[in-house]
Amino acid sequence: MANNWGEAWIKHIESMDLDAVGLDRGRNYAMSEWRLDLDIKPGLASTDARAGRRVVYEARLEIPVLTEEEIDKIVSVIANNTSATAALLDGDLDMTLLGAAANVGVDLLPGSVTATCDCRHQGAVCRHVGAVVYLLGDAIEADPFELLRLRGLERTDLIKAVSAARSGAAPEIPEGTEIASTAYAREAGDLPNQPDVPATARAMPPFPTEPPPSAPFTADGLARLGADAAERALALLNR
Ligand SMILES: [Zn+2]
Repeated sequence: MANNWGEAWIKHIESMDLDAVGLDRGRNYAMSEWRLDLDIKPGLASTDARAGRRVVYEARLEIPVLTEEEIDKIVSVIANNTSATAALLDGDLDMTLLGAAANVGVDLLPGSVTATCDCRHQGAVCRHVGAVVYLLGDAIEADPFELLRLRGLERTDLIKAVSAARSGAAPEIPEGTEIASTAYAREAGDLPNQPDVPATARAMPPFPTEPPPSAPFTADGLARLGADAAERALALLNR
């Protein structure tokens, strides 16, 4: 069982009857060539294999897009589930959607893929296409909505459709609204200044009971540790 969308994607592709050697070479190629840029569009993922600055080959992986009927089913599955809807609005795609969509006959992972590359490789999958598969795994792990984009369903369209299905009207999302996952991913700014701490807050409250006689510590020892931790925390904040 995969733990995330990227892993699910890779396991799915590896389970297809593709060229295992080509995939394996592609994985190494994807890891070694950090300059490979992946382009994801509805129905197509591609990358340019380069020699220095020169583009040598273009590797393409074509994936069937979802039909309108399939998209409607996905929209109802999410709209009928409050936590799935909340996750979606929060910029998250719950992994349980994979099974829930399958239950209504929609495979979010494609049943077939078509690999093409203009290198002279003989066989189903050259290392350039293999690299596309693994780069896609990374991209989908970082943002599961890339899988939906590949299947022809953009996140903003999905949100609009789910909101419309729930309330009968598309929501007003103000310009520049930031989704929670983006906000959490941002670098933290400077902490605000430490407010004055009332003198009474500096003293640890006494422990309500003595530790049992068999305990390897005393109430006094615990109080000292607590005071020490509080001092250190305050020193860190005031640094
Ligand atoms: Zn190739």
